Amino acid sequence: MKVQLKFNAKSYSSSQLVLISAFKIKDKDEASLTGWPADFQAAFTLLKNSKNFKAKMGQIFYFSLADGTTVAALGMGEKSKATWENLRTAMANIYKASKNSYTDMSINLDSFMLKSNLEKTVYTINEALLLTAYTFDKYLSKKDESILKTITLDSKLPKSKDRKAAKALQDSTNVIESVNIARDYVNEPPNVLHSESYAKLIEKDAKKIKGVKVKIFGKPELKKEKMGMFLSVNAGSAHQPRMVQLTYTPPKATKKPKHICFVGKGLTFDTGGYSLKPGGSMMNMKYDMAGSATVYGAFRAAALLGVNAKITCLLGMTDNAINEFATVPDSIVTARNGKTVEILNTDAEGRLVLGDVLSFASDLKPDCIIDAATLTGAVLVALGHEICGVMGNNQKLIDNILKSTKNADEHAWQLPIIAPFREDMKSKIADLKNIGGSRFGGSAKAAAFLENFVDPKIPWAHLDIAGCGDSQSHLAYCPPKGPSGCMIRSLVDFIANGKI
Ligand SMILES: [Zn+2]
Repeated sequence: MKVQLKFNAKSYSSSQLVLISAFKIKDKDEASLTGWPADFQAAFTLLKNSKNFKAKMGQIFYFSLADGTTVAALGMGEKSKATWENLRTAMANIYKASKNSYTDMSINLDSFMLKSNLEKTVYTINEALLLTAYTFDKYLSKKDESILKTITLDSKLPKSKDRKAAKALQDSTNVIESVNIARDYVNEPPNVLHSESYAKLIEKDAKKIKGVKVKIFGKPELKKEKMGMFLSVNAGSAHQPRMVQLTYTPPKATKKPKHICFVGKGLTFDTGGYSLKPGGSMMNMKYDMAGSATVYGAFRAAALLGVNAKITCLLGMTDNAINEFATVPDSIVTARNGKTVEILNTDAEGRLVLGDVLSFASDLKPDCIIDAATLTGAVLVALGHEICGVMGNNQKLIDNILKSTKNADEHAWQLPIIAPFREDMKSKIADLKNIGGSRFGGSAKAAAFLENFVDPKIPWAHLDIAGCGDSQSHLAYCPPKGPSGCMIRSLVDFIANGKI
């Protein structure tokens, strides 16, 4: 599906379906036809039932023009109250309603303009359409393919507006293509996507991006790095562990650019290890690598946007499986930074991988570190499926991330790391243990564990995406089931707005 722009448009690019927005007249239960072309107004008012269309948010009214073109009026509620998220939802809904009935579609761009911001309107419409059009059907013999191939944003505005709008269109395409690639990686089954194949996939994709370098660490290199925690998780695996290091250097940095380091948990499948998960809880554990897909998606998008920041992305990849070499509970391992850790539960393995990678990240001395991980079930108990848990050691960094989630209309909430949580992660016979004493407050206790592996002088934030990374069926532009790609847009906003 292709979205394109047409300025100085004299007619509509589609003779099948034209979308026009309809706002509700303030304090009246009536649709405003202001800005509608005369033929639309005539056809609409001729219909007796058009009076029932009040332009309420989400309401769609179809009517035909004399030449046979179908017009869909999208109710957007009162214009002063309409939000970017409303626009995303409206576009997602109409895309889904039209994808099997029309091969092309024209959008009356001027009528959808919000806050007089042409670029953001173009960006948001394209973003919503590409997010919604996403499917993962490669393993289906019979695919439900959309017939809708071309969507044109028609505008009466002069051609001079073309350049900025075209950039907005290209930028949003880069971002959403990256979100959809991340969704693809999470969707891949674990017999196809394991540490070795996952690293190769990322390497192949990243090598195509300007300014990006890739380095892959295998078992010998991780041993050399003394990543004892990471390797203990991989001990029972049929696959070699991988740490992928991606580096993006901006093309025309004037002064020394800021350096941000992403870290992602890439557990390609989590059985729980010897602390084995029951069957029901093990289903869908392929998605335990969603943190790595999220930070890779953000890294990829930012690199394609050519942001003026140096970005390192470190992805720790392994599965958590069992064989005769697998780590047993009660084991004590030594982390990269020398701390000893008593492993009381082999299912709390993500923090072991992340801890060693965070220690590696700290040695790079970046201006900030942000990690993403499907780390705890506790974050779902605390915040629900819809909200990302944010924790860390630097309030300014956390505040800036929270601001970016608002800009992207995603949801995040800070959970505190308090001294008793830090105490709870201490072991009697090692420096640390990998689970807390009680099951409550598990998300922030996991963060209290991770904190031990981050240089305290470096601002660090930890995103627990165990809830929001999976099905976000309340969002019209996310698939009803499967990975959401959430938080990538927020992280891109964070980098693009230079908040590092
Ligand atoms: Zn686990």
